[in-house]
Amino acid sequence: GIEGIEDREEDLQPRPPVVTVMGHVDHGKTSLLDALRSAVVAEGEAGGITQHIGAYQVTLPSKQKITFIDTPGHEAFTAMRARGASVTDIVILVVAADDGVMPQTVEAIKHAKAANVPVIVAINKMDKPGADPNRVRNELLNHEIVVESMSGDTQDVEISAQKKTGLDKLLEAITLQAEILDLKANPNRVAEGAVIESRLDRGRGAVATVLVQKGTLHSGDIVVAGAEWGRVRALLDDRGRQSKEAGPSMPVEILGMTGVPDAGSPFVVVESDSRAREISEFRQRVIREKLNAHQVAARGTLDQMLARIQAGEQKEVALLVKADVQGSAEAVSATVQKLSHEEVIVRVLNATVGQITESDVQLAKASNAVIVAFNVRATTQARELARQEGVDIRYYSIIYQVADDVEQLVKGKIAPKHREKFLGYAEIRQVFSITRVGKVAGCYVTEGVVKRGCGVRLLRENVVIHEGELSQLKRFKDDVKEVARGYECGLSFAGYNDLREGDVVECFEMEVIPT
Ligand code: GDP
Repeated sequence: GIEGIEDREEDLQPRPPVVTVMGHVDHGKTSLLDALRSAVVAEGEAGGITQHIGAYQVTLPSKQKITFIDTPGHEAFTAMRARGASVTDIVILVVAADDGVMPQTVEAIKHAKAANVPVIVAINKMDKPGADPNRVRNELLNHEIVVESMSGDTQDVEISAQKKTGLDKLLEAITLQAEILDLKANPNRVAEGAVIESRLDRGRGAVATVLVQKGTLHSGDIVVAGAEWGRVRALLDDRGRQSKEAGPSMPVEILGMTGVPDAGSPFVVVESDSRAREISEFRQRVIREKLNAHQVAARGTLDQMLARIQAGEQKEVALLVKADVQGSAEAVSATVQKLSHEEVIVRVLNATVGQITESDVQLAKASNAVIVAFNVRATTQARELARQEGVDIRYYSIIYQVADDVEQLVKGKIAPKHREKFLGYAEIRQVFSITRVGKVAGCYVTEGVVKRGCGVRLLRENVVIHEGELSQLKRFKDDVKEVARGYECGLSFAGYNDLREGDVVECFEMEVIPT
């Protein structure tokens, strides 16, 4: 945090775990969050109708507390990580027993692994006739999740969010995982944490749901969150009750901010108004400078769109989605369309499967759309036409990144500073195992160039199976800087060894968007 206080071991006290629910669309994340809340609330509270504040806390009969982030899906988790906050201690991976492991299940696993957060598998919809929990367990093996019943170390619990069965077992599993993690924080210091959600309320002004991670937040504290600040006028818990303070792992709504901070922004309590103003002015200046830099650069369809949204001239973000499979095309469209709001709507012109062709580029040009390429590539001709016509093609392999970029765009904010630039393709012709080096792929460059240290995506049957970096680029025995089309080369991949003949290596580099 800004104030940089280090806590001493003896000042640390146990704190409740913070849990995020992830999984494929329609597998029951929302239902589970609702079921857990009502299951526990029903016990004590009369008429325990809760309002949605982005996170809630339950108290088990054992008095153990658990905090749930009440925004299902990856967005909450990853948007926060992208902005520097990491709030989740445990991920519940919901997998529908009648559907099995699906693309977003795999993404969720990747995110949890990347963040080094332990997973508990909730096999949901066990009430359905087609439920097959063992199929789920087996499919998870392909993604390095080995559940306990298969002698692994990931807990799995069979549940039905709809019939509310298995929930006690799930809560037990969370408690056990939390014990293993030995979660602690110092409650007796100024508060630090993260913004979970924020909005502008007609009557109450800026309202932010924050999760306290360290220390205790008090009414009257001066808080800086992202580029906004304010004196906390009131703290409200997840049932809308006023409270004087909030300790570690406690989610609260705070009133009194001068503006609406971005979800995922870290917040910190500072000693004075003047210090708060100073920090927030600095941050706002940084944001403005980035925005200006962008307007100057306005060129492609993406930059034009951004400039018009900022000027209040455009009410629509038009996208053309191309994906590797129908499921992904639908998932991407559904995700981005949800980002529409009153001022700017997100319109998906077309969501189809396959490579990006010239006709896609023409359609995008005609409708001022940006092309979202999800796990697919563009033909050489299409790429060339896009360059000539100033149509932006953005390549993705992770849905949350699409969501994050589109969300920025809709808000008229800075698009990411970097964009991907396509370099070339190489085909794996042979795979060698070399002592102390690992696997080396003997490749043939079929298009463009391969550069030392560039970003790589490994495609097997047109599906991305790995994304990372090149660790070695050789011509015969020599390390080289770059190998062009028509030549052979030896490639190895940082921390990755599952290579096969016939795999295609897509090479890219990140370029700074010109200012
Ligand atoms: P999300 O997209 O992952 O948040 O999924 P939802 O919670 O919205 O659930 C998707 C659909 O599955 C809804 O129609 C739910 O009623 C249904 N559903 C969720 N959990 C269960 C369950 O345990 N059993 C059955 N039969 N249906 C469920």
